[in-house]
Amino acid sequence: MYIVMVASECAPVAKVGGLGDVVYGLSRELETRGNSVEIILPKYDCLRYDQIYGLQITYQDLWVPWYDGAVHCSVYFGFVHGRKCFFIEPHSDQNFFNRRIFYGHGDDDQRFAFFSRAALEFLLKSNKRPDIIHCHDWQTGLLPVMLFEIYQHLGMGRQRVCYTLHNLQHQGLTGERILRATGLNRPGYFFHQDRLQDPRHHTAINMMKGGIVYANFVTTVSPRYAWEIMNSSQGFGLSHTLNVHHRKVGGILNGIDYDVWNPEKDSHIRRQYSLAKIEDKYANKQALRERFWLRDVFKPIVCYVGRLDHQKGLPLIIHAIHLCLQKGCQFILLGAGSDDRITQQFWGLKRYHNDNPDCHIEIGFNEDLSHLIYAGSEMILVPSLFEPCGLTQLIGLKYGTVPIVRSTGGLADTVFDADYSDLPYERRNGYVFNDFNNAGIESALHRAIGMWYSYPKHFQELVANGMRYDFSWNHPGYHYTRIYEYIHQP
Ligand code: ADP
Repeated sequence: MYIVMVASECAPVAKVGGLGDVVYGLSRELETRGNSVEIILPKYDCLRYDQIYGLQITYQDLWVPWYDGAVHCSVYFGFVHGRKCFFIEPHSDQNFFNRRIFYGHGDDDQRFAFFSRAALEFLLKSNKRPDIIHCHDWQTGLLPVMLFEIYQHLGMGRQRVCYTLHNLQHQGLTGERILRATGLNRPGYFFHQDRLQDPRHHTAINMMKGGIVYANFVTTVSPRYAWEIMNSSQGFGLSHTLNVHHRKVGGILNGIDYDVWNPEKDSHIRRQYSLAKIEDKYANKQALRERFWLRDVFKPIVCYVGRLDHQKGLPLIIHAIHLCLQKGCQFILLGAGSDDRITQQFWGLKRYHNDNPDCHIEIGFNEDLSHLIYAGSEMILVPSLFEPCGLTQLIGLKYGTVPIVRSTGGLADTVFDADYSDLPYERRNGYVFNDFNNAGIESALHRAIGMWYSYPKHFQELVANGMRYDFSWNHPGYHYTRIYEYIHQP
């Protein structure tokens, strides 16, 4: 099949979180399975240009309709670690993608609605007619709407859309203006509960809802999260819409790219290792300690890698840092946030622990460093309030770093408690707690730390069980191809 991914992120050139990993990893898997895959991205000024090979203009004068006029764009082509990527660069006063950061501007709705329209216009004008357009999250929610309402009448009547929801917390709420901007117009038609009207704010347009209503198939990133968004407050107002369309909604667990995340061939770590040579993992623990000036003592390292966002359970992370230090562990945190107040709080914490030889807090985004942290730690914490899929626990498992997680979303689908899971022992791979409070995380941490100190052989069994799991893109790749085939039937 010929598949075009349209997304706001793709690792490693444009990555804020898991979305970037998924767009890259899934595309690679689909190609391995014999499909032809292209990725369309905004040409941000903050792309990692050092990771793009052979970047050059491929389409000079693309005029994208926008309000009553049109915006002049250039389209670039380049390879990102073997993937074929197109980058859209608008030349307009708004400077949509020259803002130094990916998200967080007051006009994000306009920026990404424009991007969606530009992607369709590019396909149309360059005579690309993919079998499947796969779009992701609210940023590209209007794409299936415009495909059905505008572009199918211009010669794109056979394209089918798969739409993946990575996080329902952000839905792209906007106003009537966006209808005029994108040429959809007809507010009376689109402000309808069956179409784009936001279920909670009746004067708002909800881009993600548009994607759900108009796409041929809607997926989300784990089976548990699929259930949660349809049956609990995790739907953030969209449960009803999802239930109306339940026949075309499904949960497919994300994978991770074992070419990128693999201790056997990871070039970012001091010593590569496998389950058979697990003792070599220790060299990475030493490297990690040297890097952060932590002392070399008989203690496990617990880590957190992730965005500093309310969703990730920040109060529990802070509580866990204190608890771990008290209970004889070392703690390393790598995180970046977009909320100033939160970032300031963690800077405060960093200053507080500055001279502590057992703790390091690193604020910022650092992909290379994250590899060493996964490899050098013994346990990884993911105490999320909610978690659509979560990749850090999957990476932890692959690196023999035991996950300690809250039982929610994809975490519940991938981590099975050492003591309480009803799976056989050899399938148990971590520690799980339910209650989102200090007592909850303490119960899991106490058990994990106790096991490391008192029953090291059992702890090693958990490590081995985790490393044996296959959370590659192989299974999800199969399921996505089945969905593409299903929606592509004439
Ligand atoms: P989310 O998509 O909610 O951010 P996921 O667990 O799905 O969370 O994906 C997070 C991805 O981003 C992982 O690949 C993780 O290693 C990476 N990541 C998150 N924060 C950082 C950071 N500060 N530095 C480097 N990588 C990070």
